[in-house]
Amino acid sequence: MSDTIEKIKCLIIGSGPAGYTAAIYAARANMNPILYQGMQPGGQLTTTNEVENFPGYVDGVTGPEMMVQLQEQAKRFGADIRDGWATKVDFSGDIHKVWINDSIELHCETVIISTGATAKYLGLPSEQHYLNMGGGVSACAVCDGFFYRNQEVVIVGAGDSACEEAHYLSKLCKKVTMLVRSEKFRASKIMEERVRKTENIEILMNHDTVEVLGDSNVVHAIKALNKTTGETIEIPATGFFVAIGHKPNTDIFKDYITLDETGYIINTPGTSNTNVAGVFVAGDAADHVYRQAITAAGTGCMAALDAERYLASKE
Ligand SMILES: Cc1cc2nc3c(=O)[nH]c(=O)nc-3n(C[C@H](O)[C@H](O)[C@H](O)COP(=O)(O)OP(=O)(O)OC[C@H]3O[C@@H](n4cnc5c(N)ncnc54)[C@H](O)[C@@H]3O)c2cc1C
Repeated sequence: MSDTIEKIKCLIIGSGPAGYTAAIYAARANMNPILYQGMQPGGQLTTTNEVENFPGYVDGVTGPEMMVQLQEQAKRFGADIRDGWATKVDFSGDIHKVWINDSIELHCETVIISTGATAKYLGLPSEQHYLNMGGGVSACAVCDGFFYRNQEVVIVGAGDSACEEAHYLSKLCKKVTMLVRSEKFRASKIMEERVRKTENIEILMNHDTVEVLGDSNVVHAIKALNKTTGETIEIPATGFFVAIGHKPNTDIFKDYITLDETGYIINTPGTSNTNVAGVFVAGDAADHVYRQAITAAGTGCMAALDAERYLASKE
């Protein structure tokens, strides 16, 4: 427990596009926002080299560069950006309590949760190698599919999102091979049918990914195991898409905030309101559909405006 308690008008938890956009709006509305960056300052985009779809960057921008610019923009209006990790909350009262690093206690009139979601990967060393190199492994077809136009790619996954992404890739790529680990899709029938009917998607059921193959920089094939025959095959591909789900970073809120079965925060449609008055959500922490920087930024704006209106209603 901390000796001193800091009183805060607007606390923002998380430093991705949602958090920084909320900070820009809240700072310009004189809400004196304080933003804690968490373990990944700048959020998910700091792990990508090329962002080509955020409006305003004609020639594209690297993820880290874009996030530094968002941070500078928020600081310019007086947002207080701090290192630290929210470890516990108590949203049972009118004043929302948040603990940082298990020690600093904050009493907040409003809280904006923008803690994002983390893509799940298979965990293969070769997958992680190419992911870190930025050369051929991705968890986002909408973000990176364009880089593989007219090429052959492999996607792993069996749920609705995997089908959605495979279908998206089929419009850009020459061929999409879909690896499904078991004998069944987890996706809805309609999504499964959609991929099954798409000519340039080949589905390999009951196949495990063994290794991502390539030279030191670039992927050229995926090694997969046919679990029915025990045969190992190599599928030529320049891109490997992992679509096995995301984990929203919302565990610490679960005793107070309504989450769906995966852990995404449920907001009132068309607003950033959560089930707790004065606590708002923005970005991927509540979004299992779009998961883009621009939608995260858009909902960051909404959360700051909703927080500002909430404060005004209390005056
Ligand atoms: C490899 C990759 C490439 C991508 N490329 C693109 C692209 O080209 N274009 C595009 O539009 N989108 C892209 N995306 C998706 C985009 O990055 C996300 O949609 C976006 O970053 C979501 O923003 P966010 O602010 O909701 O959360 P995030 O960016 O995930 O940020 C979450 C923040 O919350 C912090 N946090 C988490 N828990 C806590 C806690 N307990 N206390 C304090 N802080 C906490 C983290 O440190 C982090 O700063 C890509 C994603 C990945 C992984």
